[in-house]
Amino acid sequence: MTEATALLQLAKFSLGVGDRFAHQAKAQLQACAKAATLGVTVIPVWNKSNREHNIVHSEPASVRTAADAAVRALEWKHPYYVDADHINLGTVDRFLDSSDFFTIDVADAIGRRSECVEPFASKHPELVGQLRIAGLSEPLAISRQRVVEIAAKYLSAAEEAGRIYRHIAQSRGSRPFVTEVSMDETDAPQTPVELLVILAALADEKIPIQTIAPKFTGRFNKGVDYVGDVAGFESEFSADLAVVAHAIAQYRLPANLKLSVHSGSDKFSIYASIRRALRKSGAGVHVKTAGTSWLEELIGLAEAGGEALRLAKEVYAQAYAHREALCEPYAAVIDIRQGRLPAPAEVQSWTSGQYTGALRHDQANPLYNPDVRQLLHVGYKVAASMGERYSKMLAECEEPISRNVTENLFERHLCPLFLAER
Ligand SMILES: [Zn+2]
Repeated sequence: MTEATALLQLAKFSLGVGDRFAHQAKAQLQACAKAATLGVTVIPVWNKSNREHNIVHSEPASVRTAADAAVRALEWKHPYYVDADHINLGTVDRFLDSSDFFTIDVADAIGRRSECVEPFASKHPELVGQLRIAGLSEPLAISRQRVVEIAAKYLSAAEEAGRIYRHIAQSRGSRPFVTEVSMDETDAPQTPVELLVILAALADEKIPIQTIAPKFTGRFNKGVDYVGDVAGFESEFSADLAVVAHAIAQYRLPANLKLSVHSGSDKFSIYASIRRALRKSGAGVHVKTAGTSWLEELIGLAEAGGEALRLAKEVYAQAYAHREALCEPYAAVIDIRQGRLPAPAEVQSWTSGQYTGALRHDQANPLYNPDVRQLLHVGYKVAASMGERYSKMLAECEEPISRNVTENLFERHLCPLFLAER
């Protein structure tokens, strides 16, 4: 690790935030500011992926500008970052100047052939046998054959991460940054044993990795709750924490290395599991929640009524009309039951209360409709195509929108994750 990269140290708790149109940074930061006054510092990391930039035709510098302005306005005294989310060698360059956090996405390299599988297994006899790891009740039993199998699947991804990391480090020169490696956008979740082998391989690449985003078991659909075995998730998450702590010591990885939970917004049923596991282990976490804020914009518009409610309905109507194309890039991370989507003509007749009831993530409300929520989640392209008309309305309805953005992040995310039962 170079001295420069050591300078930027991501704190224990951090929250990935963001919105499609760069209007909500202040309202998002307000949620972190509220948590800070209650004694818990959660560092905001504004993230936006290349895919989002392409869909709404924005540039990475706009995220930096919005984040800087929010920090100035609220006089935020703690660190904050701008994350080049899910970048690869082909897309990273336009983020190099404005980002100081890079999420290196190597999911596509999983399963690719690597020349170095056998040498890797020979270099790592410590991975073989009965591994006693603090925090795990049973030792991990790993054969050399298993190490070879895991390396055959993941080594090329670690090598690719190394190439991308070195490209960023070289281009940024003395400007420090935080490095995350993500493998979440793939079919099969990674087990704790696989995570250990992956961390050994990333250490071999000399990547000063501060956050790692594995794919966890269960469905992490966009904007809606976790679907899966909650108890199973809790034991997997705890085992991952134990493996990360072990890898930090074993492979001299940065001491603050922590797990990153992608599509982490709205996963209400696993927040208590995450909170308990963090308390027990003393570990930190990064939780990405960017998508949820765009839905709060729509809720704020609907709440405002009149012209703004009509616009929110128009977004739904167009999203419904173009649902196939909008869902296509997100197919792996949404589960929409078409039959549960109301026809646009029906939505036309909705009051503010009916629209916000359907969209707001309150599972106790009988009006709540997770299918509407997921469709609108991927429907931001519709708002982007409205251009000025949409952004003007955002400015006009700033009060109800920012109130909903802040409340959503604070009450439904920061509180259950970090503040409950203190
Ligand atoms: Zn992700």
